[in-house]
Amino acid sequence: MLSDRMQEALNGQINAETYSSYLYLSMAAYLHSEGLSGCASWMRVQAREELVHAMKFFDFVNEQGGRVLLAAIEQPPSDWDSPRAVFEAVLAHEKKVTGLIGDLVELARQEDDQATGAFLEWFVAEQVEEEESAAGVLQKLQVSERSPEGLSEFDARMGQREFHAPS
Ligand code: MG
Repeated sequence: MLSDRMQEALNGQINAETYSSYLYLSMAAYLHSEGLSGCASWMRVQAREELVHAMKFFDFVNEQGGRVLLAAIEQPPSDWDSPRAVFEAVLAHEKKVTGLIGDLVELARQEDDQATGAFLEWFVAEQVEEEESAAGVLQKLQVSERSPEGLSEFDARMGQREFHAPS
C-alpha cells in the first residue's frame, strides 16, 4: 500500500522517465540532422530504455494498488551547439535523474515503505551504469575529435548499440 505522498512521487517519476525518453528522442532527431546516424541510433536505443524505466514505475504503482496518473510531458530542447554538447547534456541529465531516484529512496525511508525501497534498488544500480555509460561516451567523443577520421569512426561504433530489454 502506497501513501498518497509516495504515490504522487512515483507518478512524478513516471513523468520524469517519459520526459527522459522524449529528450533522448529529440537528441536523436538533432544528431540525425547533423549526419550522425550512428549517434542518432544510439540515442534511439537510449530513448527506448527510458520508456522501459517509465513502465517499471507504472507497473509498480499498479501492483501496489495505487493509481497511475499521467501528467503533461515537458517539451524537450530541439537544438544543441554541437554533438559534444548533446552528450554533455546526457551526462548532466542522468546526474539529475540520479538525484530524483535518491529523493525517492529518502522518501521511502521516511515513510518506512520497505516495498518501494526494495523496488528502487534496481534504479540506484541502474543510475550508476547510466552515468558511467554517458561519461564513457563523452570521453570517447573527446578523444575522437583529435583526429580527422575520428568522428566518423566514433559514429560508426555508436551505431552498433542494440536495444536489450532490462531485466
Ligand atoms: Mg531512466
